[in-house]
Amino acid sequence: MFKQITIIGFGLIGSSIARAVIEHKLADSIICVDQSKDTCNKVLSLGLADDATTDPALGVPGSDLVILCVPVGAMATIADQIADHLEEGAIITDVGSVKESVIAALQPRLPAAVHIVPAHPIAGTEFSGPEHGFAELFINRWCIVTPLQQTELKAIERVTKLWEAFGSKVEIMKAEQHDLVLGITSHLPHLIAFSIVGTATDLEDDIKSEVIKYSASGFRDFTRLASSDPTMWRDIMIHNKDAVLEMLQRFNEDLSALQKAIRKGDQDYLYNYFTDTRDVRQKIIEVGQADYVYPDES
Ligand code: NAP
Repeated sequence: MFKQITIIGFGLIGSSIARAVIEHKLADSIICVDQSKDTCNKVLSLGLADDATTDPALGVPGSDLVILCVPVGAMATIADQIADHLEEGAIITDVGSVKESVIAALQPRLPAAVHIVPAHPIAGTEFSGPEHGFAELFINRWCIVTPLQQTELKAIERVTKLWEAFGSKVEIMKAEQHDLVLGITSHLPHLIAFSIVGTATDLEDDIKSEVIKYSASGFRDFTRLASSDPTMWRDIMIHNKDAVLEMLQRFNEDLSALQKAIRKGDQDYLYNYFTDTRDVRQKIIEVGQADYVYPDES
C-alpha cells in the first residue's frame, strides 16, 4: 500500500499503528522518529521499525506517508522540522485528539506539494509508550478523518483505506464538528476524572488512604481515566479550549439542577434522569462500542 511510512512519536498510538502496518503488510519499510533515544532503541529492539532517528528532518525523506503521533502541542514544531525534507506528493496525516488546532499548526507550515489528511482514531488506553501498543487497538473503532477543503480525494481515500485495513470504521467530518463531539464524549469526561481524583488526593493523608483502600468501582473507573498521560491531556485541554469550556458550562448547569433535586428530595427528577442515562449505556453496548460489558449488562 505504501513504500515507506515514517511514524513521528512512537508511543502507544504510533507503535500500535506500526504493529498493524507490519501485521497487514501495508508498507515496505517503517521509519521511527522519536525525541527519546531510549524509545528509538526500544522500537528497534521490538522489531517495530527498520530504522530510527531522533531527528525528524532525517526521518522523512523517501516516505510516501508520514504519520504524526506526537501530543497535539508538538505538531507545529514537528511541521517546522520536516517541512523542507518531505517528498513531493507525500501524504501527511496525524492522530491528534484535537483537529482544528492541528490543521492550524500544519497547513501554513507544510509545502503545497504534500497532501494533508488529518485523522483521529477513537481508540486508546491510559498507557503510554511503545511497549503498550498492540495491532488490534483499532479494530471495530471509529477513525474520524477531517480533510481540508483542498485535500485531494485520492489522498483521503488512501488514508481511509489504511484505517480500514487496521479494522477501523472511517467517518469524514468537519474539524470543528469533531472538536465539539470529542469535547463532550472524551475531553470533558477526562477533565471530570482528573478533578474528582484531584479532590480525593487533596484530602487529609489518613482519609486519603481510606479513599484508596475502599475505592469502589465508581472511583476506580475515574482513576483509570485520570492516570492518562499528563502531557497529552494538558495539550488537549488547551488546544480544544473553546469546545471544552462550552461543554463544561453545560455540565455545570446540569450538575446544578441535580444538586437542587437532591436538596429538595425530588425523587422523580433523579429517577428519570438516571433512567435516561442508563439508556445511553445500553445504546453504546448495542452499537458494539463498550470496552467491557459486565455479565448483567449484555
Ligand atoms: P504517548 O504514548 O505518550 O506517545 C507520544 C510519543 O511522542 C512519545 O514517545 C513522546 O516522547 C513522543 N514525542 C513527544 N513530543 C515529541 C517531539 N516533539 N518529537 C518527537 N517525538 C515526540 O502518546 P499517545 O497516547 O501515543 O498519543 C499520541 C497522540 O495520539 C496524541 O496526539 C494524542 O492526542 C493522540 N491520541 C491518543 C489516544 C490515547 O488514548 N492515548 C487516542 C487517540 C489519539 P516522550 O516519551 O519522550 O515524551
